[in-house]
Amino acid sequence: MEQNCQPSGIPPEQMTMKSEFTFACHKDVECFTRCCRGIDIMLTPYDILTMRKKLGITSDQFLSTFTTPQILEKADMPVVTLKLLEDERKSCPFVEDHTGCTIYEDRPTTCRYYPLGVGALSYSDDGKDPFFFMVKEGHCMGFKEKKTWQVAEWREDQGVDLRDKVNQGWLELMVRKKSLPASMKLSEQSKQMFFMVCYNIDAFSRFVFESTFLQRYEVSQETIESIKTDEVKLLQFGFDWLKASLFHTGKDSFQLKKTA
Ligand code: SF4
Ligand code: SF4
Repeated sequence: MEQNCQPSGIPPEQMTMKSEFTFACHKDVECFTRCCRGIDIMLTPYDILTMRKKLGITSDQFLSTFTTPQILEKADMPVVTLKLLEDERKSCPFVEDHTGCTIYEDRPTTCRYYPLGVGALSYSDDGKDPFFFMVKEGHCMGFKEKKTWQVAEWREDQGVDLRDKVNQGWLELMVRKKSLPASMKLSEQSKQMFFMVCYNIDAFSRFVFESTFLQRYEVSQETIESIKTDEVKLLQFGFDWLKASLFHTGKDSFQLKKTA
């Protein structure tokens, strides 16, 4: 996504799942935690879900404390980025000098991918493969280490396979919007709906279960039970609902009840 894009304007060399690179990161590198300052990290829906759970706070608390809302220019869609501390080094709120990342098991997707970037907005559900590229930053000593990886091995090791799978619906929405002519803008209300589903799962849960939503749409009892107890399923249900509501794709799964 955007946060991984090459800043220089030079088209990055495209890598595939089988491409190799040499890299390792550990506590003994002299640059330890340097990459956790002054960074621009876009959070995915699944990142927010897991980070707020790890911190034991609500989506509202997480969003207001740790994120900044933005508009992704390429797609004219709302995104959120990690809010950095206002210290001299503009540190990530989760970094500690000696121990590193305090939420390591639940760190965001971008942190996992590094030193790879993803050409994510260049592919979609049209059968094209994603491509990757190296994000080489001068301060990063990890490239001097001897460990060699294939891109596919790195992704598995860092746990991004699962995250990309969960976030696929979100990515498809972005790609769909980006593929429309620039003149076709979403209304502010549509953008707010998108924001709620993708980044505020508590609010979306209330919207589904405490409004007239289930009286208006045909949703099977089985689906209701699963989205009630599983936030990942609720999130994916939300992506499907957004596709049907905003772009009229897969709308058969969201039929209005005849009495509505
Ligand atoms: S979330 Fe963790 S890994 Fe990512 S920038 Fe912050 S401290 Fe570093
Ligand atoms: S700058 Fe590179 S090697 Fe250093 S801690 Fe960050 S990722 Fe690891």
